[in-house]
Amino acid sequence: MVVEVRDLQERNQIAAQIARLLLELRQAGGRVLAFTGAGISTASGIPDFRSPGTGLWERVDPEQAMSWDSFRQDPVHFYQVGLTTWLPPLWRAQPNPAHKALAQLERAGLLTGVITQNIDGLHQMAGSRRVWEIHGSVRTASCPTCGRRVPLLVPHAWLAEKARHAAPDALSPSWRWPEGYPPRCPDCGVVLKPDVVLFGEPLPASFEQAWDETARCTLMIVIGSSLEVAPAAYLPERVGRLIINNLQPTACDERAEWVVRTPAAEIWPAVVDALTEANPAFALPPSAW
Ligand SMILES: [Zn+2]
Repeated sequence: MVVEVRDLQERNQIAAQIARLLLELRQAGGRVLAFTGAGISTASGIPDFRSPGTGLWERVDPEQAMSWDSFRQDPVHFYQVGLTTWLPPLWRAQPNPAHKALAQLERAGLLTGVITQNIDGLHQMAGSRRVWEIHGSVRTASCPTCGRRVPLLVPHAWLAEKARHAAPDALSPSWRWPEGYPPRCPDCGVVLKPDVVLFGEPLPASFEQAWDETARCTLMIVIGSSLEVAPAAYLPERVGRLIINNLQPTACDERAEWVVRTPAAEIWPAVVDALTEANPAFALPPSAW
């Protein structure tokens, strides 16, 4: 059922209904998972590269720039392109109210965890503890030779400098690597690969875990995903009950109890507000629950 959200009153009504359902499911021992895609992070300033005309991808083809072939053929150039296009927006982004609301639902025992297609690490930054990143993360990098994994150093000073001036093009003479780039394995000296699933690479172990989690899932809340990317899009198909919160129609809309076409950063904080209204303890820090 598509829920029309034309004003605050309608938004608060559906938020209160979702809050009641989550409380009922917790009471009944149900397991609720969120499944998130690019749409939850657009309010954090991360452009969805599947949406045309977002600017970021006018200079490069993401499926080429973020491919296993381009990394394997020239890992140094891979970082040059990455640092001038897709990595800085991911590193600069901060969690928005939707990420924070999901973390709060998990702490209250209303959400079992989050399966995400996003590589930005914003769920963990917001405080979510159980997160399955089925397309990996830009927060760590691994050595393709020995497998050693290290945090991927975010060059904050370089990013700030870059934000003050026009972005240096990787091919211009003014190009300078930030300190520590391209990152190399301390043991082998090989250029490290970000732990992101690149185009042309198999899915990581976290996908298998997410797949298993969906078998035990009572309700899945899909947020900001058009459910177009296989095999990730098969996960919601394994779950009996669905709520979909996406601005565009998805392939699973017909199966969903509610299809809520309103921004995630508005509806999920409203669900938290509805829960707080029903039980003021919900607003306290987790240690007080
Ligand atoms: Zn190594």
